[in-house]
Amino acid sequence: ENRLVTPEYTPDEAQLEQNLRPRTLEEYVGQTKAKENLSVFIEAAKKRGEPLDHLLLYGPPGLGKTTLACIVANEMNVGIRITSGPAIEKPGDLAALLTNLSAGDILFIDEIHRLNRSVEEVLYPAMEDYALDIIVGKGPSARSIRIDLPPFTLIGATTRAGQLTAPLRDRFGVVLRLEMYTHSELQKIVSRSAAILEIPCEEGGARELAVRSRGTPRIANRLLKRVRDFAQVMGDGVITDQIADEALSRLEIDPLGLDQNDRRMLEIMIHNYGGGPVGLDTLAAAMGEEAVTIEDVIEPFLIQLGFLGRTPRGRVATAKAYAHLGLPDPRQAPP
Ligand code: ADP
Repeated sequence: ENRLVTPEYTPDEAQLEQNLRPRTLEEYVGQTKAKENLSVFIEAAKKRGEPLDHLLLYGPPGLGKTTLACIVANEMNVGIRITSGPAIEKPGDLAALLTNLSAGDILFIDEIHRLNRSVEEVLYPAMEDYALDIIVGKGPSARSIRIDLPPFTLIGATTRAGQLTAPLRDRFGVVLRLEMYTHSELQKIVSRSAAILEIPCEEGGARELAVRSRGTPRIANRLLKRVRDFAQVMGDGVITDQIADEALSRLEIDPLGLDQNDRRMLEIMIHNYGGGPVGLDTLAAAMGEEAVTIEDVIEPFLIQLGFLGRTPRGRVATAKAYAHLGLPDPRQAPP
């Protein structure tokens, strides 16, 4: 899939992300509530000389969960190992990761809701007692031995907290939800990234990019890079509001930041289902997308804009969505 605004990152983006990642809580823009809480927990843990409580971060992709985990490691002065749910295939993989940690280290597991069951069960005693229970031998001679682990902090990331099993969720001492960023926060992020990448970018240009980045720093940084190309070809390399507007329009990102997929979803709802309610799975089939992609990637932004409602009977396109697409809303009583 080659969507410009897809929040998942592509491998060649990894280096860029690395360079643009803020290193301290101070540098980390927005998420005031999460930051305030975290700085208290960090200070308290440091005072006690203990590792931080296990921490669960949730929110749509690209909002800064991995970045925050690295910042916590930095602020706690400990090491961090980064992995993901699907990468840990067997209990032995997890055991290897855990036994290689130093005291106080952080293990970051992205997409933690995708851990398989047998791995998850090894994680419970590890989180609770810093211990691994390992079965050695087979059949009647099999026995369980317990291995002590160094004290560590697990930071899990997921798109929705509700995707975790209850026993796993219950073992996190702290659960923080990341919110979509405001336009002014994103503008700060764009300006900061432009400075790091030495891209000349006017305030108006940064603003335009901010408004059209779906509330998501990863998308803002990606669009910044793309718009730079336009600025170099169409102008003198400076990203002005006009250049940004023209470039983003050519990339089919509309003035509110909707891309083709967002518009297509609203149009399908409106043309095929009378604006809804339409069930998630029906919608996913009509779109040729997976239901989780709709729930985690497309929907949050449309809900934030007030274009989409969720009802017990399914998704509904709001009057605002009709107006944005320039379509008459047949559900509205004639004046
Ligand atoms: P997630 O893990 O939630 O998918 P990341 O932590 O990988 O998201 O963030 C994606 C990119 O967005 C990072 O490389 C970073 O440059 C940028 N970013 C995220 N959050 C912030 C923030 N609060 N301030 C500045 N840049 C941010």
